[in-house]
Amino acid sequence: MATAISIKNLYKKYNNLKAVNNVSLEIKGGEFFALLGPNGAGKSTIINILSGLTNKSEGEIKIFNFDLDKDHISCKKMIGLVPQEFNMDIFEIVEKFLFFNAGYYGIPRSKRKKRINEVLKLTGLIEKRSMKINTLSGGMKRKLMIARALLHNPKILILDEPTAGVDVETRKQMWDFLTRLNKESKTTFLLTTHYIEEAEQLCDKIAIIQEGKIIASESKKKIWSDFGKKELTITLKGPINRSEINKILKNYRYKMNKNLIQLEISKENTDYQKLLKNISTLPIESITTKEKSLEEIFVDLTNKYPIN
Ligand code: ADP
Repeated sequence: MATAISIKNLYKKYNNLKAVNNVSLEIKGGEFFALLGPNGAGKSTIINILSGLTNKSEGEIKIFNFDLDKDHISCKKMIGLVPQEFNMDIFEIVEKFLFFNAGYYGIPRSKRKKRINEVLKLTGLIEKRSMKINTLSGGMKRKLMIARALLHNPKILILDEPTAGVDVETRKQMWDFLTRLNKESKTTFLLTTHYIEEAEQLCDKIAIIQEGKIIASESKKKIWSDFGKKELTITLKGPINRSEINKILKNYRYKMNKNLIQLEISKENTDYQKLLKNISTLPIESITTKEKSLEEIFVDLTNKYPIN
C-alpha cells in the first residue's frame, strides 16, 4: 500500500515550548489512523502543519510523495480538513453552502451540482439539502463539515476531534458513520482524539502522543500484544502467610491484600499449566481473569515514558 503521509523528524517550537518534538510517522493509503493524546499533546499542531495552516519549525513531510515544502499546492489538493469548531454560516441553506465552498475549491460550476449530490449522499444528508444549517442537529452539522471537506475528492481526510462535545448517543452514531465512510470513500482517515474508546473503536493504527512526542505507534493489535496484560485475581478461602505466597509466586508480579491476590500475566509468563501447578497447594475459593483495556494500557504507557 502506498504511503499517504510521511512525517520525518518534525518539530514545532513556540519560544521555549516544543509543541511537536521530533515526531516521525508513516500513514498508509486507506488506513484509519488515530493520533491519540491528552489536551495540549500537540495533535492539532501536527494536523495544522499537514493542512498548511501552521508552518513547521523543522522536519520533512510528504503527502503521497509530494514534498509539502516544494509542492504545497499538490499536497493541499489531496487533503480535506474537518476542523473541531463549527465554522459555517448557520443561516445558509445546506446546498448553497456547499455550492459556495465548491467554488472555493475551484470546482467548475458545471460540475458542482453532481459533486454536491455525491457528498450529500455519502454523508446521508441528501434529504436535508434545502434546509437551513441552523435547523440541523449537532451530528448533522458535523456531517455537513465532512461533506464540505470531501467536495474536492481528497485522498486524505483529516478529522480534528470529530466527536468532541457530542452526546454519547450521537458519538456512537458518528463512529458507525465514519467506519462506513472510510470504507465507502476509500479515503485515508487521520483522526485526532483524546477519547481512548474512539481510537479503539475506529482505527487500525494508533499513535499515542504525549507532550509533543510519540510514545507508541502501532497497529491496535500490536499495542495489545505488546502492552496488554491480563490480570488474574485469586480469592483464597482465608488469609495465608505472605512468605509462602512469595515463594510460590516469585516469578510473577502481583499484589496481595488479605485473601485477595492480583497477578499480572504478561507476554513472558503465559505458561498457565506451570502457574496452576504452582498455586495448586493454595486454598483457592475462586479465580477470575480480566484483560487490560486500552485505557489502562494508555495509563501504563504514559507512566512508563515520563517526560523530562
Ligand atoms: P492538542 O491538539 O493535542 O490539544 P495543541 O497542538 O493544540 O494540542 O497544542 C500543543 C501545545 O502547543 C500546547 O501546549 C499549546 O498550548 C501550544 N500551542 C499551540 N498553539 C500555540 C500558539 N499559537 N502559540 C503558543 N503555543 C501554542
